[in-house]
Amino acid sequence: MTQHVLITGANRGIGLALTELYLKSGWSVYATCRDITQAPELTALQRIHEHLFVSELDVTDHHAIEQLSQSLKAISFDLLVNNAGYYGPKGYGFGNTDADEWRKVFEINTIAPLKLVEAFYPQLKANQPGVVACLSSKVGSMAENTSGGGYIYRSSKAALNSVVKSLSNDLLPQGIICIALHPGWVQTEMGGPNALIDTQTSAKGLKQVIDSVGEADSGLFMDYQGNYLPW
Ligand code: NDP
Repeated sequence: MTQHVLITGANRGIGLALTELYLKSGWSVYATCRDITQAPELTALQRIHEHLFVSELDVTDHHAIEQLSQSLKAISFDLLVNNAGYYGPKGYGFGNTDADEWRKVFEINTIAPLKLVEAFYPQLKANQPGVVACLSSKVGSMAENTSGGGYIYRSSKAALNSVVKSLSNDLLPQGIICIALHPGWVQTEMGGPNALIDTQTSAKGLKQVIDSVGEADSGLFMDYQGNYLPW
C-alpha cells in the first residue's frame, strides 16, 4: 500500500532532498513551499512524479495550516516531517539580540511544528503508527552548548525539543511516534558551503532513522546517523 508523507519547506535544501528521496522510494509526497513560482526544482519534480502534490504554505499562517489539513482530510498520513526552519539574523551576540527576529524564528521553528501536528492529528491518528519527525538541531541541545551565543536559533530548537517531548507523551497512546532529528551540518542556504555533508546524504540518513523508529524511540533526539543526542 502506498505510504503518504507531508513535508514542509520542500522547495530547497533538506526538504527538497527528502521529497525526492521519498518519491523515489514509492511514497506519495505532499510537499509544501511558500511560493510555487519560486520553487523551480520542486515543480520540475512534479513533472516526472505523479505522486507529488505541492501546496503553498507559510507555516506561520495558522489559518492556512487548518485549510490545508481540511483540503487533505481524506489522506491518512504515515509521516509528517516538520522541516521548514529559519536561522534568523547572523552575527548578533550577547547585548544585541533582536527581539522581533527572535519572535519570528520562534513562530517558524517552534510554534509552527506544533500547529501542524495539531491540524494533521486526525490524519496521523488514522494511520497507526504515524510518525512526526521534527527537524531540530544539535545546537538546541543544552548539554552540547559549550560555546554560548546563538540565542535566537538555539532557544527556538531547544523549545522545539520540549514540544516534541510533550507531544510524545500526549500522542503515543494514540499510536503516534514523535521524534526530534538533527540532520547533520548540511550544505544548504542555512548550513553554508563549508558544511560537512550534502543534502542527499542527510536525507538518506534521516529516512533510515525514521524508517527504523519504534514506540520506544518516541520523545527522543537523534542525529541522521541514528546516534542518540542529549537534550
Ligand atoms: P534552508 O535554509 O535551505 O531551507 C529552509 C526551508 O524552510 C526553505 O524551504 C524555506 O522556504 C522554509 N521556510 C522558512 N520559513 C518558512 C515559513 N515561514 N513558512 C514555510 N517555509 C518556510 O534550510 P535547511 O534545508 O538547511 O534546513 C532544514 C531544517 O533543518 C531546518 O529546520 C533547519 O533548522 C534544520 N537544520 C539544518 C542544518 C544545516 O546544517 N543545514 C543543521 C541543523 C538543523 P523559502 O525558500 O520560502 O524561504
